Amino acid sequence: MGDLLIEIGQNPHARRLIKQLGLPIPMPERLRRATTPWEERPLHDKDVVLAAGENPTLTAAVAQTLAAAGASPLVVGDDSLLEPFRTPGEAHGRPARKLPLGEELDRRADAIVFDASGIDSIAKLRALYDVFHPLVTKLARCGRVVVLGRPHEGLSPAHGAAQLALEGFVRSIAKEIGKTGSTAQLLCVEPGAEERLPAVLRFFLSPRSAFVSGQPIRISARVPGPKTIPWVQPLQGKIALVTGAARGIGAETARLLAAEGAHVVCLDRPDDDGPTSQLAREIGGSPLLADVSRPEAAAAIVDELTKRGGVDIVVHNAGITRDKTIARMSGEYWDLVLNVNLDAVIRMTDAILAGPMRQGGRIICLSSIAGIAGNVGQTNYAASKAGIIGFIKSLAPAVVDKGITVNAIAPGFIETRLTAAVPVAIREVARRMSNVGQGGLPKDVGEMVVFLASPGAVGITGSVIRTCGGAWIGA
Ligand code: NAD
Repeated sequence: MGDLLIEIGQNPHARRLIKQLGLPIPMPERLRRATTPWEERPLHDKDVVLAAGENPTLTAAVAQTLAAAGASPLVVGDDSLLEPFRTPGEAHGRPARKLPLGEELDRRADAIVFDASGIDSIAKLRALYDVFHPLVTKLARCGRVVVLGRPHEGLSPAHGAAQLALEGFVRSIAKEIGKTGSTAQLLCVEPGAEERLPAVLRFFLSPRSAFVSGQPIRISARVPGPKTIPWVQPLQGKIALVTGAARGIGAETARLLAAEGAHVVCLDRPDDDGPTSQLAREIGGSPLLADVSRPEAAAAIVDELTKRGGVDIVVHNAGITRDKTIARMSGEYWDLVLNVNLDAVIRMTDAILAGPMRQGGRIICLSSIAGIAGNVGQTNYAASKAGIIGFIKSLAPAVVDKGITVNAIAPGFIETRLTAAVPVAIREVARRMSNVGQGGLPKDVGEMVVFLASPGAVGITGSVIRTCGGAWIGA
């Protein structure tokens, strides 16, 4: 169906009416997304500003990342921020330029990175204002803001307050810049995990994270991981399982995993043999027909994965809705949704972990913002998706020794068959209830899966990453 509100949004009278109704004005400009596979220099010639609060501790990792990824770095503030760029800047032919604080940028910046890791008092938070107040209007369309902080746990109360204040700042600036398609995240780096920052920073500065915004993301050193990270074809030689791969988010995820080098086992119901087999052929993967809600499914999956020599990446994507308010819901609807969306995930994971899962594996489960915020008519669905969050948080610490990470992605409104079933008026509003004022595409979730599946994401485990454009519900 055509994008009705965008068309209406071009008419000034209609725009006024939409505003009076309190609906967000639609943003005609589509988000800028990646169109090619991962590359060595994803920030080639992008103007990236680096600024910092007092005593920053992560500028060396940022300088290394920006230079190696091909960015044109510009530091704001005093000369001390130029120092970390000296060696990597020379090595990659990317010397940093300097802009004294308060001076105007001569062109738009593609991204602003602010190292707030050393901020330990409320007074020092002022540096955020001093930098962003003049610079934020100079951020390009579909630009990126990334703030770097440290975990607040174990700090003195004032220090902890200053670090957690960063979360409120990021969530708010994400709302302010979203209308231009720009995003903001807080990367919270645990002590000892500094080496794991570059991979995460690359992803969140790139167009691959177009529909992720206002997210605090924890980077830890808990799970042992590789010393060197491949930036190109990061999934070469990996075997991946994607459930619910026949269409929607699953199909796009399978395509993107294959594009980065993985052999993808595409699982869907026997009734969906046609699209599942066609996709498997298209991406050089293999089809696997099974209904995950059946008790015998786990054994069939283990058999197939064992035949292939094991599995590295498991994406639990198959999911269903059967919406009714609790008073009207049949017991059958309740049981079906809880079984497919949650119980089956637990059964399959147990069987895979006991058998074909390889060392250093990745488990990625699809949750939903409904599992965070709740939703009328979705007690069954929201319970299943909140249960997924409980599952990944409980499982992650138990598999640390095997080098396995376990995470969940909570999509917001993504344009698929699932959301096409939502009544038209609710759908039109739901699309716009996010910072970026539009729905996401299956590809947005697929990009997030590929990143979490990649070797460089080893620092992220037990996390829920919302891929929702900064949805206003469940925020
Ligand atoms: P979709 O309906 O387009 O695709 C789901 C796929 O799962 C289908 O191919 C279906 O055949 C398969 N599947 C369902 N039950 C199965 C079973 N018992 N055994 C094997 N395969 C089965 O849905 P989608 O929108 O692509 O959603 C994918 C996942 O993302 C789901 O877990 C969903 O809850 C979650 N999600 C989607 C959105 C969204 O806006 N689309 C938002 C939040 C979460």
